[in-house]
Amino acid sequence: MVVILASVVFLICLSCGEEARVRESAELKRKIATEKNAEFIEYIDSFNLGYKEFLGRSLSAGNIRIEFVPGFEGTKVGECNHGARRIRLDQKFWEGSDEYTRKALIYHEFGHCVLGRGHLETTEGDMPLSLMYPDMYVALYFPAHREEYLEELFTGSTNQFLEEEVRVNLSTISDFSQDGLCEFIK
Ligand SMILES: [Zn+2]
Repeated sequence: MVVILASVVFLICLSCGEEARVRESAELKRKIATEKNAEFIEYIDSFNLGYKEFLGRSLSAGNIRIEFVPGFEGTKVGECNHGARRIRLDQKFWEGSDEYTRKALIYHEFGHCVLGRGHLETTEGDMPLSLMYPDMYVALYFPAHREEYLEELFTGSTNQFLEEEVRVNLSTISDFSQDGLCEFIK
């Protein structure tokens, strides 16, 4: 009896140790990832919060490596390499962009690299109905339709846009000159 009890205790302790090691290793990975991505922590955290709000469970975007490149060729401003779990952003575009444009860009890349989504080119008039639209002019509509875009990003639903009565006045955005594309490498 003593031997059996001792074995049970030993087994329990083994599994405790295993669990702790797995937890430790996950925490370590997250720590390393967030240290590497220090500049982007607030975006990673807010993306994780949005994921939890719309899908009711937690996700860590921290194990994605995010890095700047001085500038891409042509009009590209970001790319996700899904296999390498790496996002590259155009530093010049990033530094010249407002918070909504930055968020639209990095959420777009998280859409590829974390959620595994491709591009969505559906529009209502001129308004893209997804942050997964492959052109950064979607960022113009993001401030006025923040909740709708986040809901679409995490759930894939676009119905919430069609319930909206307020539309962005297109004449106020005709001077938008930034043109940015994204490359999604699967
Ligand atoms: Zn893209």
